[in-house]
Amino acid sequence: MERKKKKFPLHWQILVSLILAVLAGSFLPPLFVAEYVSWMGDIFLRLLKMLIIPLVFFSIISGISTVGSAGSLGRLGGKTILYYLTTSLFAILTGLILVNLIQPGVNAGIVIPEKLPELDATAGSLGETLMQMIPTNIVEAMASGNMLSVIFFAIILGFFITQLNEPHKTKLSSTFDALFELMMKVTHFVILLTPIGVFGIVAGVVSEQHDLLAVGETMGKYMLTVIAGLFFHAFVLLPLMVILFGRAKPYAHLKNMSAVLLTAFSTSSSGATLPLTMNAVETRSGVSKKICSFTLPLGATVNMDGTALYECVAALFIAQAYGIELGFAAQFTVVVTALLASIGAAGIPMAGLVMISIVLSAVGLPLEGVGLILAVDRILDMFRTAVNVWSDSCGAVIIAKTEGEELAV
Ligand code: ASP
Repeated sequence: MERKKKKFPLHWQILVSLILAVLAGSFLPPLFVAEYVSWMGDIFLRLLKMLIIPLVFFSIISGISTVGSAGSLGRLGGKTILYYLTTSLFAILTGLILVNLIQPGVNAGIVIPEKLPELDATAGSLGETLMQMIPTNIVEAMASGNMLSVIFFAIILGFFITQLNEPHKTKLSSTFDALFELMMKVTHFVILLTPIGVFGIVAGVVSEQHDLLAVGETMGKYMLTVIAGLFFHAFVLLPLMVILFGRAKPYAHLKNMSAVLLTAFSTSSSGATLPLTMNAVETRSGVSKKICSFTLPLGATVNMDGTALYECVAALFIAQAYGIELGFAAQFTVVVTALLASIGAAGIPMAGLVMISIVLSAVGLPLEGVGLILAVDRILDMFRTAVNVWSDSCGAVIIAKTEGEELAV
């Protein structure tokens, strides 16, 4: 019995627990789920969150300290940013085309909400965001989970370790290596709990979504538009990029990532999934620690293809529902602001919904429109988060290949 269980692969375990969670969430009384089931998910999420900051910090320092020169660090950074921008833009364009073709909001006859939903929009300008990358107090940045600042500081430390004289250089880089290995060991342990965690989280989400059955035709069409776009991006566009630019096997990589993507789907958080992403991309697909540690934490924070696509579809859906015609210039503004919104969105549940206000205000759409899409956001969040994480992992594979690495995919 014991041996059999060990052979049951993690992604199947997660899938089974997902199905059980949907059943539990649908049939058990919500109060029972809240009291006796959700805690499993909370513990799992807390364990993951406990790992994120030290894992990112140590992995970047240990990865960057092996990069060597400023030139190769710059090249790696350039490729990473180019990949992030290109794939996010492709995702937005897919969304733009689909929402214009399907027109889910036209003649929708839905009641336009008059009250502004209470969302705490924290979006600043791009300049501000860039400025805030530099922490004034690294302890505070870590305490508040400000990922970009932590990444920035870790890159600086990692780089300057390479500039130290011996014996400090070797001593420090092997110490950070060891600390990174330590965090990975703990990660491996937490990963074993994924099926239980997923069960707790998904049962909780499903039991809170009872009104989803009442989703009308219009909202159904809107959801389908987003999901169709996400599927196209995940199963056609990104695999094509992996083949063309990485000369790697996208579907072998997808298989390696299956447990991770199911976790991203269940948790709706790229940030919380990051420890699993790093583990799978490195140990299963064979991307070096150097590239994983540089690209994946950054990706989980700024590269959100699924969110970018969703921002564009949601904004145009709201415009259609209000009967507001957006011309070429306005649609172009939507594309640009959707990109910025996806970069600014944090890797946490429903961050994308908050960022929608940037896109809406850029083209003068009423902010109350967010109220229209609120009810179905949690479900769409699951799909877009899985795409966000999938894109990060494809980026790591492509960049590793272009750097001449031999991978398992
Ligand atoms: N939940 C998404 C993520 O963590 C962000 C979003 O809300 O779009 O990747």
